[in-house]
Amino acid sequence: MLETKQCDSVTLLRMGRNIGKKVLYYVHCFLIGETLIDTGTIYAAGELLSALNGKTISTIINTHHHEDHTGNNLLLQNHFKAKIYAPAEALPFLLEPRRARLKLYQYLVWNYPEPSSGYALGKTLDTGRHTFDVLHTPGHSPDHICIYEPQAKMLFTGDMFCGEKVKYLRQDEDFNQILSSLHKLENLDIETVFCGVAGAVPNGGLALKRKITFMEELRSRVGVLYREGVSPANIRRNLLGREGPMYWLSSGHFSKQNLVNSILGLPH
Ligand SMILES: [Zn+2]
Repeated sequence: MLETKQCDSVTLLRMGRNIGKKVLYYVHCFLIGETLIDTGTIYAAGELLSALNGKTISTIINTHHHEDHTGNNLLLQNHFKAKIYAPAEALPFLLEPRRARLKLYQYLVWNYPEPSSGYALGKTLDTGRHTFDVLHTPGHSPDHICIYEPQAKMLFTGDMFCGEKVKYLRQDEDFNQILSSLHKLENLDIETVFCGVAGAVPNGGLALKRKITFMEELRSRVGVLYREGVSPANIRRNLLGREGPMYWLSSGHFSKQNLVNSILGLPH
């Protein structure tokens, strides 16, 4: 499925794979001027092309290499003759998507993109209509970047934000690195955050600050309990409760235990 929505000068394209009548996960791409930020999942290829019919896209930016953000790179690169820009570390994954070794649920929900090729992003990208600041924000993945448009006070956060009170962590994410990356963003003048998961978040600067506060409080509570001798499993139980649907749907790739262990610097 694919839905579009307008928020100021940005077109939101929300998509996901239907499994029966349900869509398990959603992902957004964003069109601003002639720039498309991320390209969604290959499962929505036909609908995405229809939704973009009649538009001009000269630039594509990938916020990171994940399959739900680069899924239609090749299709759109060919169709619009657009230039793809991505973080330098993401480029080998664009050329060879199977390097990423998807888990079964990722394969079922998103699938592998077709190989595509791109140019490495520098610190800024000037498209003529917009000058974007490129901010390296690792933690969700090592190559992750956020894109800031200072004139419009917009921040495109890929998978950096996701929500204010996130209680799960992927096996390959790093809690403390995510927090350091969020601190890089907190002093920007931001009206709207455009998040790959949540879409348009109004008063996005404040939402980012609340997320930082939530994560810092959680980190300090985890630290106190650990120093008192409470085991990581019991810390998870006390502070975050039982594992929920995300754990079961992802066969443990997303878990609350990962979050606690990552805070403590333990294997997860
Ligand atoms: Zn991602």
